[in-house]
Amino acid sequence: MPHSAEVDTGAAAAAPNRPLRVAIIGAGPAGVYAADILTKAERDFEVSIDLFDAYPAPYGLIRYGVAPDHPRIKGIVKALHKVLDRGDIRFLGNVTYGRDLLLSDIRAMYDAVIFATGAIKDAAMNIPGIELDGSHGAADFVSWYDGHPDVPREWPLDAKEVAVLGNGNVALDVARVLSKHADDLLTTEIPDNVYAGLKSSPVTDVHVFGRRGPAQVKFTPLELRELSHSRDVDIVLYPEDFEFDEASDEAIKTNNQVKTMVNTLANWMVEQDEREEDPNFTPASRRLHLHFLHSPVEITGEDGRVTGMTFERQELDGTGNVRGTGELVEYPLQAVYRAIGYFGSELAELEFDAQRGVLVNDGGRVLDADGAAVPGIYTTGWIKRGPVGLIGHTKGDALETIGNLLEDRTELPPATEPSESAILDFLEARGVEYTTWNGWLNLDAHERGLGEAAGELTTEAGAITRERIKVVEREDMVRISRGTEAGAE
Ligand code: NAP
Repeated sequence: MPHSAEVDTGAAAAAPNRPLRVAIIGAGPAGVYAADILTKAERDFEVSIDLFDAYPAPYGLIRYGVAPDHPRIKGIVKALHKVLDRGDIRFLGNVTYGRDLLLSDIRAMYDAVIFATGAIKDAAMNIPGIELDGSHGAADFVSWYDGHPDVPREWPLDAKEVAVLGNGNVALDVARVLSKHADDLLTTEIPDNVYAGLKSSPVTDVHVFGRRGPAQVKFTPLELRELSHSRDVDIVLYPEDFEFDEASDEAIKTNNQVKTMVNTLANWMVEQDEREEDPNFTPASRRLHLHFLHSPVEITGEDGRVTGMTFERQELDGTGNVRGTGELVEYPLQAVYRAIGYFGSELAELEFDAQRGVLVNDGGRVLDADGAAVPGIYTTGWIKRGPVGLIGHTKGDALETIGNLLEDRTELPPATEPSESAILDFLEARGVEYTTWNGWLNLDAHERGLGEAAGELTTEAGAITRERIKVVEREDMVRISRGTEAGAE
């Protein structure tokens, strides 16, 4: 039985045609792409892969990071499902690295390990008032509305006026979910507690604040356009925010995405002017304001609670960057969400770059404190390169990491217990209630069944049916996944 003793990494290197046993930690897109690329790589030796996740279900960021009203991105699940359903990659869920499984355990049972744990925390923001009640990290809110098993079920939705800081797609997700009427999210897989929370929200105004200009946003065009599709929500823009410097003009000329987004904003401005002149126009009950050139200065509060926020107006400096004008502006607000980027979490026994929130690595080879590659340890995805880029970009990462792993293969310290049953015996001996691919199929069918059982619902948005209702509690997920059978086959 493998245990947590140090493995001699100076052991004889793997024979050229010896099968390769690989553990991948993290069954989100990064982990699944890496597993897929490795299984399909041209080679003259066997590969067997165990794909672990701390959650009882696979898909990582797609299940717990993508907004529920983004079925297009959720469609990526179909592609990942196909990969995992082939049967040549074994999924083992509900197993936490650093607690259920240590590095020495992995080294005993695998020739190599790839860390693909992503980034789930909010980047820190150091301004006065950030600690007040009502000041939230967007990543925490996303975890709540996506039914993450390890966050509280209740979310305080008592603010009428809300700020969302940042001009990336996460800011758009958060602003859209906060401003949408809950009934318009009922066709999605949102858990019941999330629907109930959003339904009771008294919100009237959601303000998104970017510190740079309209040509410097980090949104993507489709996601920006989607803002205008919410029922009974008016988009509000401010002409004084539409400043363009030389770098902005150049970006609009040379970058189609920037051009499209600036055009979208300009069209909305024209529509807004027309609305204001239309005597028959009926204002929506909620507004989504987009502000630019506002840099956060301070969150203000009373009795420990957010009551407003101060920003310094910015001006573009010619290069697409901004400088402060010294003009301070204040907004009354009862909640602030900072959506200024995600941040990776440290992993036991591995060198972590605390500035960038990534594992210290060179092309996916994890390095030690002296900058030397640690034999057999690799990384891919957001924990490798930081939390930027769309899901598809992770494929390039995986290609590089797998290329390097295969280049190193004959030098890898071989596992001492390479049998496929060793890890199952190990987890069972430790009392870890791991879940399997068949377990996921059980849970998937169960969640769809819950959606079907809800039948046709009459809502403010008309008659709807629910495709799926997510199971949130970890114990329920494990129980349903494991069913009456023991788990892995
Ligand atoms: P992001 O795209 O990096 O955007 C972060 C935003 O925060 C930027 O506008 C940045 O402004 C701003 N910011 C950073 N520090 C700030 C500060 N101290 N004060 C004020 N503003 C600050 O990050 P993200 O929104 O977390 O998204 C992460 C990745 O996931 C992105 O690649 C995104 O496209 C992707 N994603 C995609 C979707 C989708 O639906 N397709 C949904 C969610 C996320 P500056 O530019 O001035 O630094």
